[in-house]
Order: sequence, then C-alpha cells, then structure tokens
Amino acid sequence: MNESADAWLVCPRCHAGCRDRKLGAREFLICSRCGEELKGTGGMGAMQCACAFSATALVLTLLANVYPVLSFDVAGNSQDNLIFTGVEGLWSQGYRGIASLVFFSAIAAPALYLSVVFFVSACCCLGWRLRSAIPMLRLAETLESWNLIPVFAVACVVSVVKLDTLGQVTWEAGAFWMALLAVFTLLTIQFFNKRHAMVVLQRP
Ligand SMILES: [Zn+2]
Repeated sequence: MNESADAWLVCPRCHAGCRDRKLGAREFLICSRCGEELKGTGGMGAMQCACAFSATALVLTLLANVYPVLSFDVAGNSQDNLIFTGVEGLWSQGYRGIASLVFFSAIAAPALYLSVVFFVSACCCLGWRLRSAIPMLRLAETLESWNLIPVFAVACVVSVVKLDTLGQVTWEAGAFWMALLAVFTLLTIQFFNKRHAMVVLQRP
C-alpha cells in the first residue's frame, strides 16, 4: 500500500526522485537509476550481521572439527569421535556413497557456504564491486540447502540416546562448538539477504 501519493525520496547519490512506499519485513527500496539503497529494514545492517556471524561460524567450524564431539566407552574400550571419524568409519565399512554424502553435507558444504557468504557480505559492506562476487553469490544460494550442520547437531543428540543403551557416552568439547556452530549457521542464513547482496554487487 502506498503511504502517500506525493511522498518522494531523493537519492543521495544521483539525486533522482523515487516514490516512497511502505515496506514489509526484509524489503528495501532502491534507486532505479543508480541502485543506491534509499530505505529498508533488512539492508546493510543485516549484511554486516551476516558478515560477522559467518566469520564467527568459520572459526567455530574449525573448532568443531578438531575437538572430539563425544567419547564412546563400551566394555572398557574408549574411543574419541570427531565429526570426521564417522566419515572414516563409513568409508572403511564400504559405505563410500554415504561417507561422501556425510563429508559433503557436514564438513565441506558448510565450510564452503560460510566462506562464500563471508566473502560476498564483506564485499557488500566494504563497497567492493567485484564481478567475481556474483558467481560466488549464486554458489552460496546453491550450497545453502546443503549446509546440514543444524540437522547433524540434532542427529548427534538422537544417536547418543540410542548409543547410551550399548555403552557409556560422554559429551566432549567438540559438541559445545558444534552446538554454537549450528546456532551461528542459522543466524547467518537468517541475516544474509541474497537479493539485497545481488542489488549491491550490481550497482554501477
Ligand atoms: Zn540514485
């Protein structure tokens, strides 16, 4: 709904006139001539949040992968389990397809997605109009649905309930980092506005 028929905004960059209108959540108004953001609720502030959250999540990805997530004690034999231990176990048992899928969706895709989001959002925040950022943005769109860290975190909790009947399971430091990683991954997805990033990167 238009707020008023004669309410106009003037672009601070190219001085073109733009009709003002009421915006919904995560919508923004851009200058049709130069692409400058004139008004918006999900604009550059959200992009800065996405940049900060993706950088934090990248550090957490490293911590979640180098510390064991849980230790499993059965009949006196204790084993520490990293995220990668599961991939290794499946591979050595001959489940190579599943091992590759787990490696891709629990390690490779989340790390790549977060790196790409960090790069694109940093380009937007710093005002770098890098043409290479546009294919990276498309890659982020493709990888978003393959970033299964939050699902992996929930699956770990469910598997511990089951494993507890076979032996003693103890949560290790990696579980804490993985839970935090799941939270920061969800925050990154929530704040990273792909449509806004595309508009910012395509500004002349
Ligand atoms: Zn303009």
